[in-house]
Amino acid sequence: MRRLSGIGVSPGIVSGRAVILIQRAQVLRYQVAEARLGQELDRLEKSRERSRRQLIDLRARVAARWPELASIFDAQLLMLDDPMLVSRVAEIVRDQRVNAEWAVQQAFHEFSAVFDEVADAYLRERKGDVSDLVGRLKMNLQQDGATPRDLLRELDESSVIIADELTPSLAAQIDWTKVRGFATDAGGRTSHTAILARSLEVPAVVGLHNASKLVQAGQLVVIDGTASEVIVDPTAEDLARAARAEEHPTIPGGDAERRRPAATADGVRIRLEANIEFPDDLAGAKYAGAEGIGLYRSEFLLAGASGMAVSEEEQYEIYRGMLEGMAPDPVTVRTFDVDEDQIASRLTDPSQGGWAADGERAGRQGLRGLRLSLTRPEPFQVQLRALLRAAQHCPQGRLRIMFPFVSSVEQVREARRMVQEASAELTRRGEAVPPVSIGVVIEIPAAAYTADLLAREVDFFTIGTNDLIQYCLAVDRADERVSRLYEPLHPAILRVIVMVRRAARRHHIPVSLCGEMASDPVLLTLLVGLGLTEFSMTPAAIPGAKRVLAEARLDELRALARRIMRLATVEEIERELATVAAGFGRTSRTGASLER
Ligand code: PEP
Ligand code: MG
Repeated sequence: MRRLSGIGVSPGIVSGRAVILIQRAQVLRYQVAEARLGQELDRLEKSRERSRRQLIDLRARVAARWPELASIFDAQLLMLDDPMLVSRVAEIVRDQRVNAEWAVQQAFHEFSAVFDEVADAYLRERKGDVSDLVGRLKMNLQQDGATPRDLLRELDESSVIIADELTPSLAAQIDWTKVRGFATDAGGRTSHTAILARSLEVPAVVGLHNASKLVQAGQLVVIDGTASEVIVDPTAEDLARAARAEEHPTIPGGDAERRRPAATADGVRIRLEANIEFPDDLAGAKYAGAEGIGLYRSEFLLAGASGMAVSEEEQYEIYRGMLEGMAPDPVTVRTFDVDEDQIASRLTDPSQGGWAADGERAGRQGLRGLRLSLTRPEPFQVQLRALLRAAQHCPQGRLRIMFPFVSSVEQVREARRMVQEASAELTRRGEAVPPVSIGVVIEIPAAAYTADLLAREVDFFTIGTNDLIQYCLAVDRADERVSRLYEPLHPAILRVIVMVRRAARRHHIPVSLCGEMASDPVLLTLLVGLGLTEFSMTPAAIPGAKRVLAEARLDELRALARRIMRLATVEEIERELATVAAGFGRTSRTGASLER
């Protein structure tokens, strides 16, 4: 038995057999179920035959012009039948029950090691030819329809995923009815994968540094998102605890409680909306009692698409479906928030299957969000037209369009001009275009500092604390090495939130907060004390938020916030907040440790 400790990002305890996913390597590795081994070997054989045909064809074309080079392809053809290569790959697939791409890579490492040892320089240089051939085999494996992602959908029910990192695009393609939970080496509490885990309500632990190396495929593990740990080879007692938790999950309140609008003990209404990543999450949001969608991360539509290309029709259907599904409540669609690298990695390596192939590790400070959309008018126009068309089907104001990653007034004006252009195009087509609300996410310090100026240009603000915290504190939100410095309670963060709230109030526009901070009930009470009354959060956090708010009086929360704004350190602030948490019968400010 071994305990690995990380950052619990989604509560609950589950046990299961480990499926190891390595994404940072060029090739994804995962386990193949016994019953699928035959198919996996078939893919390998098809790839060999396809490679053979291509090489014969290449050889013929090269020989016609440069006869002396044809032998390169003869050598590669011979290697295709070398027992150290394809036969060895098949052996690895069978013995280790892994996917063929990974096995090809492994066999190549073994093969290369032998080449490195030979004294003959000519022979040593032939490694380049092997590498070329291996690349071809891998490419042809991808052609075969059965991509790693397809196979991931076929995991068996007892799986838990242990990965170096789990990018949102890959996570989006996993069949979560099969996977019980996951743990990753990388990531922090507000990384998108962590956010996704909470939406999916699967227990998850991130920031484990090297779990994907320590845990073996097929090994029994317990993932305890509540206690922030992964137990490898658990004891019977740990397993029994996990089984009990799975049998009796903490069910958030009864129907009446869920449907009751959120309010403080003294009757002040607080609006709670939901953050969602997939249109299918709508049902969960409604079930949790959300009063609308406060943030739809539309870029998740791009997972599996090529570049930013999802057709107008497809997007229109999705947005319209969301508005209809959420009626009569509002839906806030954030336009694509991706960066150039994420799009580029998708374009240059389609096998990666999604916009976040390089994951959360990209700096994400460059050409991202609205900045990127403004430089790519075509996909931006497609998205805006789809949104405006969807808005035709609902009363004015129910669809809200929100621009991410805004850092200047100029960008907002330019974006508004783009909205006008999209609407003019629809008018030309003979379609009526209703007015829609336009807002921005305040998540870059420059936007927060100019909130008074931005407020004159838009209809609403949403404070995106996930990014605002990382840029204010200069702490990468997905980097496990600095996760301790990622601190929502830093006095700078509380001040910046108050500044934005004041600017919005002065200009009479609504302001909500959609960062993960709001999902933590204790932090939520502080935010209410700071004057915020609208929030958007992961649906699973809504029932707990309602419960905590119902126990608190606004005047007390205001007094608490006033006391906290005078404090200088995070430690002092935490101590002061702990008095509130104790009042709610809870022990810690991390959402994971609070019962939901
Ligand atoms: C945020 O930055 O707070 C936010 C809600 O958006 P995301 O987590 O998608 O960056
Ligand atoms: Mg953000």
